[in-house]
Amino acid sequence: MSQRPYVIDTMISAKTIAARIEELSREIHDEFEGTDKLIVVGLLRGSFVFIADLVRELDLPIEVDFLEASSYGDSMQSSREVRILKDLRGAIEGRDVLVVEDIVDTGHTLNHVTHLLASRNPARLKSIALLDKPSRREVDFRSDYIGFEIPDEFVVGYGIDYAQRNRNLPFIGKVRFVE
Ligand code: 5GP
Ligand code: MG
Ligand code: MG
Repeated sequence: MSQRPYVIDTMISAKTIAARIEELSREIHDEFEGTDKLIVVGLLRGSFVFIADLVRELDLPIEVDFLEASSYGDSMQSSREVRILKDLRGAIEGRDVLVVEDIVDTGHTLNHVTHLLASRNPARLKSIALLDKPSRREVDFRSDYIGFEIPDEFVVGYGIDYAQRNRNLPFIGKVRFVE
């Protein structure tokens, strides 16, 4: 696939991400302490690194499940129509659910997914996003937990791709086109 040439500038280092995840995991621990019915739901594919690091900081009995919603495809444009490409394996009725997302941008994806999951009557439903771009919001949605608020830049790394590349970078970087 041909791409315009670009470089990646570090925006949030691996160390800073790890420190923030430690803080967030303490808050989530306080929120869900005492429950034995928590399911942590990762939104594929961008959250796979975040959920892996987050659950390993959580000293709680949890299950892990995944859901895939369509978003950008391979372009840099957000699509307002959200489709479920892969649903959860398990039922969530009566369970505690924590949805884990990479970025909240326009808000359409997490807004749609949380409404869908709420319709299945979980006991408790919370969401966490590593990154939030509040300036881009098109629907009134706010994640319960947020790692970092960032400006309107296209980011990659730590699970997040540009045309399926760069997910394996251990930090969050911003894409800068050259020439
Ligand atoms: P929303 O529905 O909130 O507009 O978009 C959420 C999804 O868009 C994110 O889960 C992510 O997949 C994608 N997205 C939003 N901002 C960025 C970005 O800066 N870089 C990349 N690679 N994807 C993004
Ligand atoms: Mg995503
Ligand atoms: Mg993507």
